Amino acid sequence: MSSTRTLLFLEDDKDLQSLVCTFLREKGYRVEPARTAAEAMAVIARVPVDAAIVDGLLPGMTGADFIRELRKTQPDLPILFASAFWKDLKSHELLTRQLRVARIIHKPYRPEELLVWVAQLFASIPPPPPPEALEEVEAVGDDLAASLAALNAEYGAKLREKVSGLEALLGRVRAGETAAMDEAYTVVHKLHGTAGSYGYAEVSTAAGRLELVLKPAREGGALDVGAMEEAFHALAAKAAVSVKPAPAVKAPGPLLPTEGVLLVVDADAAVLADAERLGKAHVVRVLTARTADEALAVARRQWVDGVLVHMHLDGPLGGITVAHALRAEEGLGMLPLAFTGAGGALEDRVAAAHAGASLFLPRPFTSQDFTAAAERMVAARRPERARVLVVDDDPEAITALTHALASDHIEVVGLGDAHGLMEALAEHRPDLLLLDVQMPGPSGFDLCRILRSTPEWQELPVLLITAHVGLEFRLAAFQAGADDYLSKPVLREELRARVQARLERARLSKERAERDALTGLLLRRPFIDGLRARLAESQRQSKPLALCFLDVDHFKQVNDKFGHLAGDRVLTRLGRLLGARFRREDVRGRWGGEEFVVALLGETAASAKEILGRTAAELAGMTFEGDAGESFHITFSAGISVSSTDGASVEELLKIADARLYRAKANGRNRIET
Ligand code: GH3
Ligand code: MG
Ligand code: MG
Repeated sequence: MSSTRTLLFLEDDKDLQSLVCTFLREKGYRVEPARTAAEAMAVIARVPVDAAIVDGLLPGMTGADFIRELRKTQPDLPILFASAFWKDLKSHELLTRQLRVARIIHKPYRPEELLVWVAQLFASIPPPPPPEALEEVEAVGDDLAASLAALNAEYGAKLREKVSGLEALLGRVRAGETAAMDEAYTVVHKLHGTAGSYGYAEVSTAAGRLELVLKPAREGGALDVGAMEEAFHALAAKAAVSVKPAPAVKAPGPLLPTEGVLLVVDADAAVLADAERLGKAHVVRVLTARTADEALAVARRQWVDGVLVHMHLDGPLGGITVAHALRAEEGLGMLPLAFTGAGGALEDRVAAAHAGASLFLPRPFTSQDFTAAAERMVAARRPERARVLVVDDDPEAITALTHALASDHIEVVGLGDAHGLMEALAEHRPDLLLLDVQMPGPSGFDLCRILRSTPEWQELPVLLITAHVGLEFRLAAFQAGADDYLSKPVLREELRARVQARLERARLSKERAERDALTGLLLRRPFIDGLRARLAESQRQSKPLALCFLDVDHFKQVNDKFGHLAGDRVLTRLGRLLGARFRREDVRGRWGGEEFVVALLGETAASAKEILGRTAAELAGMTFEGDAGESFHITFSAGISVSSTDGASVEELLKIADARLYRAKANGRNRIET
């Protein structure tokens, strides 16, 4: 005996019908669709049904009338009643007591929600699923998601058509055609009941408003033409932007802990206890590990802002191995590192810098040193806050928007006078701009157009905020070059979601524009920008800065002997090596071809040569594979210049480093010249 349930689904909107039928069938129900009362009666005469889902408003009759009729032959059939209108208590009583409707579901409903009530109808006698069918159910889940997505998209594509059809009908209504009113009402009623089921909740809501405006006129009352126009435009605007349904709300990812999290790796229990005590006193969460394996396990399991490792954990320079292993983990390539060690011998310091440690703490460390290290690492690890500039003539609006947006990740700057926009952009260099449309002086549209014709700000994401919801306003916003718009009152969650999505997209496209795909390092132009900033910083702090120019030796031969792809692999691995070693603040780029550049902040010629020498040794230890499977090794030559000994400008430093690289080549390659 089959346990499949048969459902009668009476609904006159064929879009909703196909959505629900697809969904329920995928969930294992047999569904018999009907679009009119007569069709429904024919179904019942033909097949036994286990339950019925009945729409509240059918062509020519109400759903309640139909149910009354149905009860004459089917006194016990479980019935779900779907209605786009809130039922007052009286009609609720009529439906549930007299007509014995099992449940009233409010339209628009999601198919998932309907399924819940359908399943509940049969809950007292659950059909046991055969155990071997479990795997199939999973597979069906994927298919279902795909077919539902396709249905949603299809409905979305038809929305505009439906709306323009409606516009024509309303034109006829305005002209006094009574037949058009019924037709228009039916279209609107269907949109109200169905759009939300396809994920277009805003369209549903807007259609619901229009339906309320039309209802009295359809029942013989007067028509409020102004209200009708307004409600229609609101609906059209929602439909115009509803190309895709809003995605289901995603659960937020794991939040960054608000306090800093520091992993201390040390074999000495007393040191670990000390660190824990200091952490408690300075609101840093201290995690501890005694071995490399423990450290890896901790870092894989939870968020860590930085790691403080004993330089000689488990043997001389054992800490370096731990550091390399941690940074090799997915997502931890830039993990801030600090080492602790006995004296602070040059060798330790060089090894630490090469491994990417920003700090070296002599043991035993003081409370001050420890907290300074923790703070620096936390600051380095946390992504830089994005800046949003809000331009609005209403100070209260600025306050409200600031309140809604400001967070650990977003900093908000307000500007009350639109005339000061260009200066504010130059000063704050925002990552995103929120513009009020209506302001005294230049409007948000004007400002947006000005920005779009200014090369420097052409790419800046701009969101317009408008009190109007009309279609013309929305079109004007796009025509002015805005990326998105929000209508007042601005919902906090919506604002955040839209701003964050824009910021993330802008960040990714910047990343793509600045980085070389083969090596992941900065391209020449952004490298020079970064170098300029670091150089200025080093001059402010009266620190040296070492610039290293690297060139792979006999690279042409690598290509010739082992193939171009093998050559590419060499560049990729060298790029990754340069990317993973050194400190965050050191700037690394691919100058072009097989030439690379590295700027080391705070290093002298001697220490930079030591640090780069380690990279050279590491590279020499790598075995590469040719396109035909041969193995080979490579070396590089390098030239180093140092500010301010060799010059104070980026150009001078580059020129001198290049000249020294040339000398390294002339002197036999595989060497570093300072
Ligand atoms: P030297 O030791 O004097 O630097 O000799 P070299 O052969 O390394 O130098 P040369 O400048 O003569 O050759 C560089 C070669 O690098 C030539 C070029 O085809 C190759 N090259 C440049 N960019 C790429 C790339 O992206 N992939 C590959 N596979 N080869 C590249
Ligand atoms: Mg209907
Ligand atoms: Mg070369």
